[in-house]
Amino acid sequence: MARFDTFNADGVRRLYEVTTRVNSSTDLAEALVEIADGVCEGLGYGVAAISRLEGDTLVMAAVGGDDEVRDEILGRRTPAEQVLGREFSIADHWGILRFVPHDRLPPEQISSLWVPDIEVSEDPDAWHPLDALYAPLYSSTGKLLGNMAVDLPPGNMIPNQQQRELLEMFVVQAGVALENAQRREQLGRQVRYGEALKKLALLSGTLEIEPALQEAAQALFEAIPAAQISVRCFPDNVEDHENYTAGIPLPASANDDTVAGIRQDLVRHAAKGRLQPVSFSVRDNEFGDLESASLMQARMVKHGWNHGLLAPIGVELEVLGYLMLLREPAEADFDQDEVDAIHEAGRELGRLVRDVRLRRTERRLLAELRELDRYKGELIATISHELKTPLTSIIGHTEMLEEAGVQPSSVSAIGRNAARLDRLVTNLLNYSRIQGRRELQQAPLDLVELCRTSLEMLRIQAQSGGVSLELVEPEGPVMVMGDAEELPRVVDNLCSNAVKYTPRGGRVEVSALARDGLGEVLVRDSGLGISPQDQVHLFSAFHRSTNPEALTIPGTGLGLAISRTIAELHGGDIKVESEFGTGSAFTLRIPLIES
Ligand code: ADP
Repeated sequence: MARFDTFNADGVRRLYEVTTRVNSSTDLAEALVEIADGVCEGLGYGVAAISRLEGDTLVMAAVGGDDEVRDEILGRRTPAEQVLGREFSIADHWGILRFVPHDRLPPEQISSLWVPDIEVSEDPDAWHPLDALYAPLYSSTGKLLGNMAVDLPPGNMIPNQQQRELLEMFVVQAGVALENAQRREQLGRQVRYGEALKKLALLSGTLEIEPALQEAAQALFEAIPAAQISVRCFPDNVEDHENYTAGIPLPASANDDTVAGIRQDLVRHAAKGRLQPVSFSVRDNEFGDLESASLMQARMVKHGWNHGLLAPIGVELEVLGYLMLLREPAEADFDQDEVDAIHEAGRELGRLVRDVRLRRTERRLLAELRELDRYKGELIATISHELKTPLTSIIGHTEMLEEAGVQPSSVSAIGRNAARLDRLVTNLLNYSRIQGRRELQQAPLDLVELCRTSLEMLRIQAQSGGVSLELVEPEGPVMVMGDAEELPRVVDNLCSNAVKYTPRGGRVEVSALARDGLGEVLVRDSGLGISPQDQVHLFSAFHRSTNPEALTIPGTGLGLAISRTIAELHGGDIKVESEFGTGSAFTLRIPLIES
């Protein structure tokens, strides 16, 4: 009895040391050796061996007790099923320990066991060389993490209740050590995935898809163990006819049929609303829902790859390409964290590819628009130029006919219409000329003077239309730098519009003034007014208002477009305030000459 008490005191002390160590150590191997040694030295077992579950294999990680045994079995790999499946099913349950008496072991298994060199005793409580005592090691959430096996119990006797309980406590510590290590590894992995995903996010903004895919493959290869990573982006056949690929360490070299098969699979998955990674395995003949599997198989077998993970590159349910990670048989299956990281990588690359293509579309459309605009300008310039010459001739000859007294009414009709055509053509020419202009001839101009000239020209037209015209003049001139040919056109256009679109009985008031460093011309009328909808397009070329009353008055819809362009070339602008049915106020602003 005294002998057991001594063992217990040693055992409890070792257990205390082991517990402290397990909770403070960051080195799993060291902690496991400490536990195995504790079981041997503290509890008196001849051998204690702790193995760790890697995939479906148990790998011997720490052996305590006998150096020879350690050298023999350390690092040994055993299929987990062999130890934890069959043997446990025939074992007695001693709490969390499993005991397989020698007479229950299937004979074919005896050969693969390590058997201690001890005598077989007649005593029924004596330890038999073929007896086996194990304990599966679980995490706190019940996940199997490894196994502890002991042999040569103290006194070569089958352990009693007290000894079993102490052994159980060491077993629990070994489970905790494995769990801590697993948590640390998981955290470390997650940090690596996070870093890889960050690298992928930093690729956005690129204009080249293929180098970005290669960098992405490299970043993932560094973060997630794999024998091969291949990335492919399918052509969209609208913006992009290229088949982009990247691969590490080998270039992605799937043939056309395989690529088409994978694409079909992913598109089919997307149609069912689930665009997620699929894992597959040659060994287990497990290909998820991949019809392309048979096409992939040959290449996998050739390279010795056994299992893989196929993840879509896509945005929402649109498939743009795929990521494929392949592993060799000895490597573990892809776990959920890895699947999640690859899934996110696929989405990140999906956004990248979509953005590159959107930018390409944008640039193409912009170039097309520019080309259209250039063509439009050229067309207007050519046509108006071609019209101008015969028109001038018609007008000249009409004047001659009029002077000669030929049929005055039809001659004047010809004259009116020719003049109207002439205005249109002049406007078109002005428009195309001003569109192509980048610079102006600048000279000091007085805005008051421009208003005066403009109203002078309009006086007769206003009188015959029954519109009163008034100029509000400031004390002195309002001097701006302007183009003596172009700037008057703006003032003329605003004033003539005001007269044109104001019915009989209305009034037009024009004022020029200097304010806040700007010269202003304000043209206010009590005319038709412009609806808010029409105001939106007022300054666009060829825009005429939707007001039927305004449409009865001849016009080209070019005057304001020309005027605004000229104002902007002068560093100024034109603003409008108007109320439909009440009247309008147009304001031209041009920087004053600095005094
Ligand atoms: P046009 O007068 O030759 O049609 P503009 O570019 O000068 O071309 O004017 C565009 C349109 O804006 C006109 O067709 C007219 O409907 C409207 N508009 C311009 N000025 C006025 C105004 N003072 N009052 C009412 N409508 C106006």
